Parts: sequence; C-alpha cells; structure tokens
Amino acid sequence: MNRDDFPILKRTVHNRRLVYFDNAATTQKPQKVIDALSFYYAYYNSNIHRGVHGLSQEATTLFEEARECVQKFIHAPSNQEIIFTRGTTESINLVASSFGQVFINEEDEVLITEMEHHSNIVPWQLICEEKKAKLKVLPFNAQGVLCMDLLESFLTEKTKIVAVNHTSNTLGTINDIKTIIEKAHSKNIPVLIDGAQAMSHEKIDVQALDCDFFTFSGHKMYAPMGVGVLYGKEKWLNKMPPYQGGGEMVHQVAFEKTTFNELPYKFEAGTPSVGDVIGLKTAIEYIESISIEKIAAHQQALYRYAFEKLSQIEEIDFFGVAPHKAAIISFNLKAIHPFDVGAILDQMGIAVRTGHHCTQPIMTKFGIPGTVRASFAFYNTFEEIDFFVEAVKKAKTMLL
Ligand code: PMP
Repeated sequence: MNRDDFPILKRTVHNRRLVYFDNAATTQKPQKVIDALSFYYAYYNSNIHRGVHGLSQEATTLFEEARECVQKFIHAPSNQEIIFTRGTTESINLVASSFGQVFINEEDEVLITEMEHHSNIVPWQLICEEKKAKLKVLPFNAQGVLCMDLLESFLTEKTKIVAVNHTSNTLGTINDIKTIIEKAHSKNIPVLIDGAQAMSHEKIDVQALDCDFFTFSGHKMYAPMGVGVLYGKEKWLNKMPPYQGGGEMVHQVAFEKTTFNELPYKFEAGTPSVGDVIGLKTAIEYIESISIEKIAAHQQALYRYAFEKLSQIEEIDFFGVAPHKAAIISFNLKAIHPFDVGAILDQMGIAVRTGHHCTQPIMTKFGIPGTVRASFAFYNTFEEIDFFVEAVKKAKTMLL
C-alpha cells in the first residue's frame, strides 16, 4: 500500500532489500513530507511571529496553519490548546513540571501504570521527589492488560493526576483509556494520555475521550523528528506556570517583573522547529489522503497474519497478548538473547528493535533482558511478513 511514496523502502541494507519493522520506534517519511521540509527551507525560511517583513509573516502563517491542522486532526476545541514541543517526552515533562509545581504537594499521589515508557515514568518521579509526593503504579496482568479491577482503589483523594499510555510500545496493548478517564473524572482527577503510539493506529478525538492532556510525537506518524504536540484543556493550561522562560513566551519583560504571553505561546519559549511543524501538517494531510481507518485496518491485518504465523514456531514466547492490540509484537525465542536474534535478522535486511524499548519495569516483571519487537506500518506487506517469519525460523535453528 503506497510503498512508492517512501523512498527509503527502496534501499538495501547488507545488500538485502530493507524490511522495516521498527515503526514503533519511528515511522519512515513519505516523499511529500521530505519535500515539505526542503520547500520550507528553500522558499520560506524565516523566524516566525517576530517580523514585520513578508517572509516572516508567510512563515508565521504556515506555522499557525499547521496548528489549526493539528487541532482539527485531534478534534481539539481550540487552537490555543495545541502546544508545539519537541515530542512526547518534552510534552510529558512540561505537564509533570508545570502542573506539578501548582497542583502536586507533599503526601499527594500520582498514578501511572506498570507498562509506561520511561518518558511517562521519570518526569513524574522527578516531580514526586521534589514535592515529596508518592508515585503509584497500576499493574498489568499476564496477558499485558491493565488490572482495571484495581483502578478504583488506586484512585484516592490524594491522587492529583493519572498518566497512562494509550497504547503500549512494548506490549502493543491498547488500553481502555475511556474508562480510566471516566473513573478518574468521577473523582475530579485529571488524566494525561501518552499518545505516542496511538496516532498511527487509530483516529484520536480528544473531546470524545475527554482527556485533560494528550501528548504525541510527529516522527511516529510519518512526520519529521523534532516536533511533537501537547494538547491540554485550557482550564488547566491557564492555571499552569510557564515551563521554560525565554523569547516568545512573554508579554512584557522588565527586570522587576515579567508578564507572560497568552496560550499557547506561554508554553513555546524560543524559536520552534518551524520546518518540522510544517512537515507535521503535511504528514497529517498525507494520512488523511489515505484515511486513518484504512491504515489501521491494513496494520491490523498484518498484525493478525504475523501473530498467527509466528505462533506456529514452538519455541516462541510472546510478551503482550491482550485481545485489543496495535500492530506491535514482542517476543523471544526461549532464552536466546534478543540481540542475537536481532543481529541475524539485520543480516537479512530486516530492521526490528531489540532490548527493553525504554520500558525496563516491563522487562523486570517478566524477568527478561529484553524482547525482539516487530511493529508494522501500512506500507508493510504480507510478503515481508512471510520473509520475516522464515528469517526468525532460521535464527532459531542457528541459535537454539
Ligand atoms: N511514550 C511511548 C509509548 C513511546 O513509544 C515513546 C517512543 N518510543 C515515547 C513515549 C517517547 O517519544 P519521543 O521519544 O518521541 O519523545
């Protein structure tokens, strides 16, 4: 499906045709996105918001059009609620630090889950340590599904925020975030969703979800690296202090006192990655030109096909077998180190990720050093999966 749009898929690695199954780490970029970047630098490059000159105004218009495009894409009520960041990591750090400064105090609790990416763990640890608050962790079961029956008891009058991923980058589990949000809201607790893995797998509507914060990275949805988004409800963002100080985020600066700019600029200190933001808009238009539903359906079909074929290998252990999953498969061949499997697959031109995938607590829970992770995008094919399954079998005979 649309493979020709992605020039990198034509290249070889170790003289073999590249089979790119590392899409959960980052997706490849269509020619349209690559062109948008060079077009911006060739014809529009200028610093935004600050200039009266024509070029600066044109670049500003493109930048602000991208904000509106993101707003519509995730169905946010206002473009003031769309903050451009460097990615999911920065978006979560922004909320942990800024929300935490005002709303988290000694003895308070922050609830995360056992399947979070490090970037949805460490920022909360930092603020909890600073404020002497407690980090609580909702566990998941052997299938890789969150223990929802425990949720009620984890939400106490001390809980100040819940931060949970929409989709686990390691287990592939798609969490029942709607229920989590409803349960948290019934106790007036706001919820942050780490949507890093969600954007390329399903349509996101932040109003339907009613989440308080939603974070994602452009590079996992066919856009350039270096740009991400924080969506936040205005009612929270208005009460949160700036995350970083500098140009753009101020209204008036004097040595005695500085006043801050309105939303979203209050949270966008310094020169943003303008070209990348424009590239994100192009990526969204590209996704919409195909339809996210079509993309999701193809990825699900690839996932089911790969899972069924891999299941026939006797020595395989899967990590994360939830009924509701994204196109992500984590596995090991018994006790063989995932790096060894990954190295053999690499020699055949197959790019998979091996290791802990920035989710060390998941590895600790399973008592393993890491997994081999194959994650699919809509440009992957059934033939690639056939080739991959044969390669895994070959690795098994070589290593077991
Ligand atoms: N959360 C999840 C679930 C992720 O998969 C990732 C990226 N692997 C991140 C957060 C961090 O994203 P980034 O590195 O783009 O900031």
